[in-house]
Amino acid sequence: MQWVGLPPLVGAVSNAGGVITALTQPSPAALRQAIKETRALTDRPFGVNITLLPTINPPDYEGYARAAIEEGVKIFETAGNNPGPLIKFFKSQGCIVIHKCTTIRHAKSAEKLGVDVLSIDGFECAGHPGEDDIGGLILLARAANELKIPYIASGGIADGRGLAGALALGAAGVNMGTRFMCTVESSIHENVKRKIVQSTERDTIHILRTLRNTARVFKNKVAIEVVAIENRPGGAKFEDVRELVSGQRGKVVYETGDLDYGVWSAGVTLGLINDIPTCKELLDRMEREAEEIIGKLSTLVTTKAKL
Ligand code: NAD
Repeated sequence: MQWVGLPPLVGAVSNAGGVITALTQPSPAALRQAIKETRALTDRPFGVNITLLPTINPPDYEGYARAAIEEGVKIFETAGNNPGPLIKFFKSQGCIVIHKCTTIRHAKSAEKLGVDVLSIDGFECAGHPGEDDIGGLILLARAANELKIPYIASGGIADGRGLAGALALGAAGVNMGTRFMCTVESSIHENVKRKIVQSTERDTIHILRTLRNTARVFKNKVAIEVVAIENRPGGAKFEDVRELVSGQRGKVVYETGDLDYGVWSAGVTLGLINDIPTCKELLDRMEREAEEIIGKLSTLVTTKAKL
């Protein structure tokens, strides 16, 4: 949740496992401050995410990791390429590591590296879905068959029905990005939240596909332009689209509400998001909906048993 995983939101959702996105902070020192701010907002545990993907300005990953450890963070979410050294470092510090990945083979490698929990990210997700294009239904069912450690479902979940479905597929919980962007406590501009509410599942697009660094973003003018450049005869190099896809431009969208200023991450859950609740309202409602659905399904089983 680059540019969104900020203290007010993390504090508000910490009962359900809020995570500060380290790289949203400009430096390890700023991350320390964000951890302190979050701690002032909640006495519940929260984590820090470090995502290792190609970046325009390579961040000091180790510095962010050390800063978070020194601030007493005990839960880390890792994601992206070659997370081994970071995972080993966090485990050597006695931390809990959740690794987010988009394939079962990566999940199994992470399991071997000693991660505690996996976050299985289906193709429906916002941001980087990997290059294999496998939807959550299949990935989670495969996870149930293949993995030994607990996993949570990520990508495509925005309501109680999704939560109940994920639990049925063996997940221990769910991870939500786009849904939390559209809450009262999310610090992004109201225009973005309103746009999410108005949009449907057909309003996302994949950029950087041809560079094998696919990212699902909101289908706005900039994203359409990026794809057009990628589809030119002869293809595109990263330099051809760098200015357009830059995270710094996307950040401006969240700050000013100018929806076409840059690319911004959004998942297919756009089709399921119809309001801007507080995090508490959202989570209470999802729990209620999921319990109702699970209750109905149990009735089906009981009825069948009586027949
Ligand atoms: P950024 O401004 O450095 O880069 C913008 C986009 O271009 C990102 O998608 C990045 O992966 C991609 N990119 C950068 N250099 C590239 C290269 N040489 N070849 C191909 N693609 C390249 O990124 P940012 O918005 O400041 O984000 C910081 C980090 O967080 C990046 O690693 C980004 O990928 C990651 N992020 C991850 C997700 C996710 O879904 N996990 C979502 C948003 C951002």
